[in-house]
Amino acid sequence: MREVCVVGAGVVGITTAWYLAEAGWRVTLLDKSATVGTGTSFQNGGQLSYRYVSPLADGGVPLKALKWLTEKDGPLRFKPSTELSQWSWLGKFLMRCHGQANRETTARLARLGTYSRQCLEQLTETSKLPDFDWKESGKLIVYRTQATFDRAAAAALVKDVQSVLSADECIAKEPVLGALQGQIKGGIFTSDEAVADCHGFCEALMGVLATHPNFAGYVQEEVQRFEYAANGKLRLLTSHGVRGSDAFVLASGIASRRLAATLQMNLPLYPLKGYSLTAPIGASHTPPQASITDFERKVLYARIGDSLRVAAMVDMVGEDDTIEPGRIESLLRVARADMPLAGDYAQASTWAGLRPATPDGAPIVGPSSVPGLWLNVGHGPLGFTFACGTASILASLMGQGHSPLPLDGFTWPN
Ligand SMILES: Cc1cc2nc3c(=O)[nH]c(=O)nc-3n(C[C@H](O)[C@H](O)[C@H](O)COP(=O)(O)OP(=O)(O)OC[C@H]3O[C@@H](n4cnc5c(N)ncnc54)[C@H](O)[C@@H]3O)c2cc1C
Repeated sequence: MREVCVVGAGVVGITTAWYLAEAGWRVTLLDKSATVGTGTSFQNGGQLSYRYVSPLADGGVPLKALKWLTEKDGPLRFKPSTELSQWSWLGKFLMRCHGQANRETTARLARLGTYSRQCLEQLTETSKLPDFDWKESGKLIVYRTQATFDRAAAAALVKDVQSVLSADECIAKEPVLGALQGQIKGGIFTSDEAVADCHGFCEALMGVLATHPNFAGYVQEEVQRFEYAANGKLRLLTSHGVRGSDAFVLASGIASRRLAATLQMNLPLYPLKGYSLTAPIGASHTPPQASITDFERKVLYARIGDSLRVAAMVDMVGEDDTIEPGRIESLLRVARADMPLAGDYAQASTWAGLRPATPDGAPIVGPSSVPGLWLNVGHGPLGFTFACGTASILASLMGQGHSPLPLDGFTWPN
């Protein structure tokens, strides 16, 4: 049986490990942490956002970004760096900021979204996955300007699944939006979007993976670099020594950039830092039933189990996941003003994570330029949504040599 070592046990690495074990590989899952899902997969927004996949790069975004940078509680922060990687990523990102590029990537990601939904449904059924607070709660996007609302309402909406709601209808559907009376112009409700606990999913999948006959085990080791053995075979140098395997999959979130660089591979990834609050929901609170996205402020609110998750912000401040108190205060201010009754913000836990983002917003899946090393990286703001899809694609590529979806736009170097 061929052996594979998956490096990184976030939502992308653990789903990759599962699909490879199912495909007949002898799988070792390796992470620097003692448990799974403790990186960016820990307290993200929890959205399984299969229909809203439009990447950040779009026409008009550079101008909007300049405005956001001036807003006190704005969604964007930028700390210029002397690192070439920041400027090279930004340059590539700006090249993608036009309507045609956005439409192309959106179409690809929509196909990946549909496939990922099918994969997750199948996985939960076949693996008898324990509960991870999955709920098809629907998604309501609310708009604060007439122009953005009119544009969203005029877009081709999916019949029987999406509906256009006036501001009053939004508030009637979700009374917690009452605090925004007079501030929102309307919303689009999509009934088949879901939310779940991404960390809970990682733990649940680890539980079933641990009993899989093809699973060789979970190893807590920190990878320092890739190197070649005397016989020319690729291997890892880790905190515990050297580790060989027939194949390796790099699925280490933003750290993939540094690890790939040890093989002179320059992956186009940049950390887009975001924040979240997780507030308990008490008897006196009235959380939203659907997940709610405030389109202009770029803040999302979702009930996940007994908690309210509030997630937001895109900070370009380098590979630094520390929680900056000023940004958390901003997020708390916005949540308290816009959804005062949704949860107990005084008791909220706080979190920051680094989205491993490519300039065009599409993940990179497939072989690398180094024989024996495969990539499943760059899932950016939608890693939970796409994890099962890209993991299944990679297992097909590594097994049968072909992908169930066209791979244009998802490969590297492209
Ligand atoms: C605020 C915020 C909100 C988000 N909301 C959503 C959402 O609603 N829906 C959605 O789909 N996505 C969302 N995302 C994006 C999603 O969280 C990420 O795309 C996803 O978690 C990336 O998963 P990953 O497995 O690639 O990375 P990670 O989860 O970061 O996993 C990487 C793993 O690699 C390990 N590792 C790193 N370096 C090494 C090393 N040297 N040796 C060994 N192991 C190593 C780490 O310990 C970690 O466990 C959000 C992200 C943020 C920040």
